[in-house]
Amino acid sequence: MNYSKGSKKRLFKNKSSLSDNSKLDGVKSFDLPLTTCENRCMLSNKFFKICYAENNQNQRRPNRTKKLIHNLQLIRSSKFVKVLSYEVRNFNKIRFFSSGDIEDGEQLRKIMQVCKIRHDTKFVLITSRDDLLLQAVQTKQTKPENLQIILSSGLIDEPVPQFEKDILSPFGVQFSHITTDKKTATCEASKSGFCGDCSDCYQKPADQTSTSKKDGFIFSLHGNNNTRKIKKYGNKSRAEIMKDYQQGNGSALQTVQNHAKTQNQTKQNQTKQTSKTQTRTTARTARKAQNQTSKTQTRTTAPQPVKA
Ligand code: SF4
Repeated sequence: MNYSKGSKKRLFKNKSSLSDNSKLDGVKSFDLPLTTCENRCMLSNKFFKICYAENNQNQRRPNRTKKLIHNLQLIRSSKFVKVLSYEVRNFNKIRFFSSGDIEDGEQLRKIMQVCKIRHDTKFVLITSRDDLLLQAVQTKQTKPENLQIILSSGLIDEPVPQFEKDILSPFGVQFSHITTDKKTATCEASKSGFCGDCSDCYQKPADQTSTSKKDGFIFSLHGNNNTRKIKKYGNKSRAEIMKDYQQGNGSALQTVQNHAKTQNQTKQNQTKQTSKTQTRTTARTARKAQNQTSKTQTRTTAPQPVKA
Protein backbone atom coordinates (compact mmCIF):
# COMPACT_ATOMS: atom_id res chain seq x y z
CA MET A 1 0.00 0.00 0.00
CA ASN A 2 1.34 3.46 -0.92
CA TYR A 3 0.85 6.46 1.30
CA SER A 4 1.55 9.93 -0.05
CA LYS A 5 2.38 12.71 2.41
CA GLY A 6 -1.05 14.28 1.84
CA SER A 7 -2.96 11.03 2.30
CA LYS A 8 -1.06 10.25 5.53
CA LYS A 9 -2.06 13.65 6.90
CA ARG A 10 -5.70 13.08 5.99
CA LEU A 11 -5.79 9.51 7.29
CA PHE A 12 -3.94 9.74 10.57
CA LYS A 13 -4.37 13.27 11.92
CA ASN A 14 -1.58 12.45 14.42
CA LYS A 15 -3.78 9.96 16.30
CA SER A 16 -2.40 6.53 17.05
CA SER A 17 -5.03 3.86 17.44
CA LEU A 18 -2.75 1.33 19.20
CA SER A 19 -2.47 0.94 22.98
CA ASP A 20 0.13 -0.38 25.42
CA ASN A 21 -0.92 -2.96 27.96
CA SER A 22 1.52 -3.88 30.76
CA LYS A 23 0.28 -7.51 30.80
CA LEU A 24 1.19 -7.99 27.13
CA ASP A 25 4.91 -7.28 27.57
CA GLY A 26 5.28 -4.66 24.87
CA VAL A 27 2.72 -6.04 22.41
CA LYS A 28 0.43 -3.29 21.15
CA SER A 29 -3.29 -3.79 21.07
CA PHE A 30 -6.12 -2.28 19.08
CA ASP A 31 -8.98 -1.68 21.54
CA LEU A 32 -12.61 -0.63 21.40
CA PRO A 33 -15.06 0.75 23.99
CA LEU A 34 -16.72 -1.75 26.33
CA THR A 35 -20.12 -0.96 24.81
CA THR A 36 -19.08 -3.31 21.99
CA CYS A 37 -18.70 -6.36 24.24
CA GLU A 38 -20.58 -5.89 27.51
CA ASN A 39 -23.79 -7.63 26.38
CA ARG A 40 -21.99 -10.85 25.58
CA CYS A 41 -19.52 -11.20 28.43
CA MET A 42 -20.28 -12.65 31.86
CA LEU A 43 -17.55 -10.52 33.46
CA SER A 44 -19.19 -7.28 32.34
CA ASN A 45 -21.26 -4.83 34.35
CA LYS A 46 -24.41 -6.50 33.05
CA PHE A 47 -23.55 -9.75 34.89
CA PHE A 48 -20.77 -10.34 37.47
CA LYS A 49 -19.24 -6.82 37.26
CA ILE A 50 -15.67 -8.07 37.36
CA CYS A 51 -14.43 -6.96 33.94
CA TYR A 52 -10.70 -6.19 34.24
CA ALA A 53 -10.84 -3.45 31.63
CA GLU A 54 -13.87 -1.81 33.25
CA ASN A 55 -12.26 -1.93 36.70
CA ASN A 56 -9.00 -0.47 35.43
CA GLN A 57 -8.99 3.23 36.30
CA ASN A 58 -6.94 4.02 33.18
CA GLN A 59 -9.96 3.01 31.11
CA ARG A 60 -11.79 6.13 32.28
CA ARG A 61 -8.95 8.60 31.63
CA PRO A 62 -10.03 11.24 29.07
CA ASN A 63 -7.22 10.30 26.61
CA ARG A 64 -8.11 6.61 26.81
CA THR A 65 -11.82 7.33 26.26
CA LYS A 66 -10.95 9.55 23.27
CA LYS A 67 -8.76 6.83 21.77
CA LEU A 68 -11.45 4.17 22.14
CA ILE A 69 -14.07 6.40 20.50
CA HIS A 70 -11.61 7.23 17.72
CA ASN A 71 -10.96 3.50 17.20
CA LEU A 72 -14.67 2.73 17.06
CA GLN A 73 -15.20 5.38 14.40
CA LEU A 74 -12.16 4.06 12.54
CA ILE A 75 -13.20 0.38 12.47
CA ARG A 76 -16.69 1.40 11.32
CA SER A 77 -15.19 3.49 8.49
CA SER A 78 -13.82 2.58 5.08
CA LYS A 79 -10.39 3.97 6.11
CA PHE A 80 -9.73 1.24 8.69
CA VAL A 81 -7.75 -1.20 6.53
CA LYS A 82 -5.50 1.50 5.10
CA VAL A 83 -4.88 3.26 8.41
CA LEU A 84 -4.29 0.18 10.55
CA SER A 85 -2.10 -1.66 8.08
CA TYR A 86 0.12 1.43 8.06
CA GLU A 87 0.18 1.75 11.84
CA VAL A 88 1.16 -1.87 12.49
CA ARG A 89 3.85 -1.98 9.80
CA ASN A 90 6.79 -2.09 12.28
CA PHE A 91 5.41 -4.56 14.83
CA ASN A 92 5.92 -8.32 15.07
CA LYS A 93 2.78 -8.94 17.10
CA ILE A 94 -0.55 -7.17 17.47
CA ARG A 95 -3.56 -8.04 19.58
CA PHE A 96 -7.24 -7.32 18.90
CA PHE A 97 -8.65 -6.59 21.63
CA SER A 98 -7.71 -6.03 25.25
CA SER A 99 -11.06 -4.27 25.56
CA GLY A 100 -14.07 -4.39 23.25
CA ASP A 101 -15.02 -6.72 20.41
CA ILE A 102 -16.01 -6.72 16.74
CA GLU A 103 -19.56 -5.57 16.09
CA ASP A 104 -20.31 -7.24 12.75
CA GLY A 105 -19.01 -9.47 9.97
CA GLU A 106 -17.76 -6.48 8.00
CA GLN A 107 -15.35 -5.58 10.83
CA LEU A 108 -14.10 -9.17 10.95
CA ARG A 109 -13.46 -9.04 7.19
CA LYS A 110 -11.57 -5.75 7.56
CA ILE A 111 -9.36 -7.21 10.31
CA MET A 112 -8.57 -10.24 8.14
CA GLN A 113 -7.69 -7.88 5.28
CA VAL A 114 -5.20 -5.99 7.50
CA CYS A 115 -3.63 -9.34 8.49
CA LYS A 116 -3.34 -10.38 4.84
CA ILE A 117 -1.61 -7.10 3.96
CA ARG A 118 0.80 -7.35 6.93
CA HIS A 119 1.55 -11.05 6.44
CA ASP A 120 4.86 -10.81 8.37
CA THR A 121 3.12 -9.65 11.56
CA LYS A 122 1.45 -12.14 13.91
CA PHE A 123 -2.04 -11.15 15.04
CA VAL A 124 -4.47 -12.50 17.61
CA LEU A 125 -8.17 -11.71 17.74
CA ILE A 126 -9.87 -12.61 21.02
CA THR A 127 -13.62 -12.53 20.57
CA SER A 128 -16.90 -13.82 21.94
CA ARG A 129 -18.66 -13.37 18.57
CA ASP A 130 -19.24 -16.99 17.65
CA ASP A 131 -22.20 -15.87 15.53
CA LEU A 132 -19.93 -13.76 13.31
CA LEU A 133 -17.36 -16.57 13.06
CA LEU A 134 -20.16 -18.87 12.03
CA GLN A 135 -21.16 -16.43 9.29
CA ALA A 136 -17.55 -16.41 8.09
CA VAL A 137 -17.64 -20.23 7.89
CA GLN A 138 -20.99 -20.18 6.06
CA THR A 139 -19.79 -17.60 3.54
CA LYS A 140 -16.61 -19.64 2.96
CA GLN A 141 -14.14 -16.92 3.97
CA THR A 142 -10.49 -17.79 4.51
CA LYS A 143 -8.65 -16.92 7.71
CA PRO A 144 -5.14 -15.59 7.12
CA GLU A 145 -2.41 -17.92 8.49
CA ASN A 146 -0.85 -15.11 10.53
CA LEU A 147 -4.11 -14.42 12.40
CA GLN A 148 -5.07 -16.60 15.36
CA ILE A 149 -8.72 -16.29 16.36
CA ILE A 150 -9.52 -17.31 19.94
CA LEU A 151 -13.20 -17.69 20.80
CA SER A 152 -14.00 -17.08 24.48
CA SER A 153 -16.53 -19.40 26.11
CA GLY A 154 -19.72 -17.66 27.22
CA LEU A 155 -19.60 -19.37 30.62
CA ILE A 156 -17.14 -19.43 33.53
CA ASP A 157 -15.46 -22.79 34.26
CA GLU A 158 -17.01 -24.28 31.13
CA PRO A 159 -15.16 -24.77 27.85
CA VAL A 160 -16.80 -23.88 24.54
CA PRO A 161 -19.33 -26.69 23.83
CA GLN A 162 -18.19 -29.46 21.51
CA PHE A 163 -20.85 -28.84 18.84
CA GLU A 164 -19.61 -25.26 18.55
CA LYS A 165 -16.00 -26.46 18.30
CA ASP A 166 -17.00 -28.85 15.53
CA ILE A 167 -18.54 -26.01 13.50
CA LEU A 168 -15.73 -23.50 14.00
CA SER A 169 -12.54 -25.63 14.09
CA PRO A 170 -12.37 -26.08 10.31
CA PHE A 171 -12.12 -22.27 10.00
CA GLY A 172 -9.02 -22.41 12.23
CA VAL A 173 -10.67 -20.98 15.36
CA GLN A 174 -9.11 -21.81 18.74
CA PHE A 175 -11.00 -21.84 22.03
CA SER A 176 -10.68 -20.43 25.54
CA HIS A 177 -12.48 -20.24 28.84
CA ILE A 178 -12.01 -18.77 32.30
CA THR A 179 -11.37 -21.02 35.28
CA THR A 180 -11.82 -20.34 38.98
CA ASP A 181 -9.25 -23.07 39.70
CA LYS A 182 -5.87 -21.39 39.20
CA LYS A 183 -4.10 -24.79 39.02
CA THR A 184 -5.83 -25.65 35.75
CA ALA A 185 -5.04 -22.30 34.06
CA THR A 186 -2.62 -22.50 31.12
CA CYS A 187 -2.17 -18.78 30.45
CA GLU A 188 0.83 -17.43 32.32
CA ALA A 189 -0.28 -13.80 32.11
CA SER A 190 -3.57 -14.58 33.82
CA LYS A 191 -1.64 -16.10 36.77
CA SER A 192 1.46 -13.96 37.11
CA GLY A 193 0.33 -10.80 35.33
CA PHE A 194 2.87 -11.09 32.47
CA CYS A 195 3.26 -13.15 29.29
CA GLY A 196 7.00 -13.60 29.89
CA ASP A 197 8.38 -16.07 27.33
CA CYS A 198 4.96 -17.33 26.24
CA SER A 199 3.65 -16.33 22.84
CA ASP A 200 1.03 -19.03 22.42
CA CYS A 201 -1.74 -16.57 21.54
CA TYR A 202 0.09 -15.66 18.34
CA GLN A 203 1.02 -19.22 17.36
CA LYS A 204 -0.74 -21.96 15.46
CA PRO A 205 -1.78 -24.84 17.81
CA ALA A 206 1.13 -27.01 16.60
CA ASP A 207 3.66 -24.39 17.76
CA GLN A 208 2.14 -23.68 21.18
CA THR A 209 3.95 -24.68 24.34
CA SER A 210 1.61 -24.24 27.30
CA THR A 211 -1.90 -24.32 25.86
CA SER A 212 -4.10 -27.34 26.63
CA LYS A 213 -4.53 -29.47 23.52
CA LYS A 214 -7.99 -30.51 24.70
CA ASP A 215 -9.49 -27.29 26.08
CA GLY A 216 -7.37 -24.60 24.40
CA PHE A 217 -6.51 -21.48 26.38
CA ILE A 218 -7.52 -21.55 30.03
CA PHE A 219 -7.39 -18.15 31.72
CA SER A 220 -7.36 -17.86 35.49
CA LEU A 221 -9.99 -15.71 37.16
CA HIS A 222 -7.68 -13.75 39.42
CA GLY A 223 -8.45 -11.66 42.46
CA ASN A 224 -10.03 -13.09 45.67
CA ASN A 225 -12.70 -10.46 45.47
CA ASN A 226 -13.66 -11.59 41.98
CA THR A 227 -13.86 -15.26 42.98
CA ARG A 228 -16.08 -14.27 45.90
CA LYS A 229 -18.25 -12.13 43.62
CA ILE A 230 -18.96 -14.89 41.16
CA LYS A 231 -19.91 -17.33 43.93
CA LYS A 232 -22.79 -15.10 44.87
CA TYR A 233 -23.69 -11.84 43.27
CA GLY A 234 -26.37 -9.72 44.96
CA ASN A 235 -29.43 -11.86 45.62
CA LYS A 236 -28.63 -14.24 42.82
CA SER A 237 -26.50 -17.35 42.83
CA ARG A 238 -23.90 -17.96 40.18
CA ALA A 239 -26.10 -20.63 38.57
CA GLU A 240 -28.97 -18.11 38.28
CA ILE A 241 -26.74 -15.48 36.68
CA MET A 242 -25.32 -18.05 34.26
CA LYS A 243 -28.89 -19.03 33.37
CA ASP A 244 -29.86 -15.36 32.83
CA TYR A 245 -26.86 -15.01 30.56
CA GLN A 246 -27.70 -18.10 28.53
CA GLN A 247 -31.25 -16.91 28.05
CA GLY A 248 -30.32 -13.31 27.27
CA ASN A 249 -30.44 -12.01 23.71
CA GLY A 250 -26.76 -11.13 23.66
CA SER A 251 -25.56 -14.49 24.95
CA ALA A 252 -22.78 -15.97 22.86
CA LEU A 253 -23.91 -19.52 23.53
CA GLN A 254 -27.54 -18.78 22.78
CA THR A 255 -26.67 -17.13 19.48
CA VAL A 256 -24.74 -20.11 18.23
CA GLN A 257 -27.35 -22.54 19.55
CA ASN A 258 -29.96 -20.64 17.57
CA HIS A 259 -27.75 -20.86 14.49
CA ALA A 260 -27.26 -24.57 15.05
CA LYS A 261 -31.04 -25.04 15.43
CA THR A 262 -31.70 -23.09 12.22
CA GLN A 263 -29.05 -25.13 10.42
CA ASN A 264 -30.57 -28.41 11.66
CA GLN A 265 -34.03 -27.20 10.67
CA THR A 266 -32.77 -26.27 7.18
CA LYS A 267 -31.05 -29.66 6.85
CA GLN A 268 -34.21 -31.48 7.99
CA ASN A 269 -36.35 -29.46 5.55
CA GLN A 270 -33.87 -30.21 2.76
CA THR A 271 -33.94 -33.94 3.61
CA LYS A 272 -37.77 -33.90 3.71
CA GLN A 273 -37.85 -32.05 0.38
CA THR A 274 -35.38 -34.50 -1.19
CA SER A 275 -37.28 -37.55 0.05
CA LYS A 276 -40.61 -36.04 -1.16
CA THR A 277 -39.05 -35.42 -4.61
CA GLN A 278 -37.59 -38.93 -4.59
CA THR A 279 -40.99 -40.43 -3.66
CA ARG A 280 -42.68 -38.41 -6.43
CA THR A 281 -40.02 -39.49 -8.97
CA THR A 282 -40.25 -43.15 -7.93
CA ALA A 283 -44.05 -43.07 -8.19
CA ARG A 284 -43.87 -41.42 -11.63
CA THR A 285 -41.26 -43.95 -12.83
CA ALA A 286 -43.35 -46.83 -11.49
CA ARG A 287 -46.47 -45.47 -13.25
CA LYS A 288 -44.52 -45.05 -16.51
CA ALA A 289 -43.13 -48.58 -16.28
CA GLN A 290 -46.59 -49.97 -15.58
CA ASN A 291 -48.09 -48.10 -18.55
CA GLN A 292 -45.27 -49.33 -20.75
CA THR A 293 -45.80 -52.96 -19.65
CA SER A 294 -49.55 -52.86 -20.16
CA LYS A 295 -49.10 -51.24 -23.64
CA THR A 296 -46.68 -54.02 -24.61
CA GLN A 297 -49.03 -56.63 -23.24
CA THR A 298 -51.94 -55.14 -25.19
CA ARG A 299 -49.84 -55.20 -28.36
CA THR A 300 -48.84 -58.83 -27.75
CA THR A 301 -52.34 -60.04 -26.93
CA ALA A 302 -54.14 -58.01 -29.69
CA PRO A 303 -55.69 -60.33 -32.37
CA GLN A 304 -53.43 -60.64 -35.45
CA PRO A 305 -55.05 -59.73 -38.80
CA VAL A 306 -56.12 -62.87 -40.69
CA LYS A 307 -54.13 -63.32 -43.89
CA ALA A 308 -56.24 -63.94 -47.02
S1 SF4 B 1 -1.39 -17.57 26.49
FE1 SF4 B 1 0.71 -16.85 26.60
S2 SF4 B 1 0.80 -15.19 25.08
FE2 SF4 B 1 -1.35 -15.57 25.49
S3 SF4 B 1 -1.89 -14.05 27.08
FE3 SF4 B 1 -1.35 -16.00 28.11
S4 SF4 B 1 0.82 -15.81 28.58
FE4 SF4 B 1 0.36 -14.22 27.08
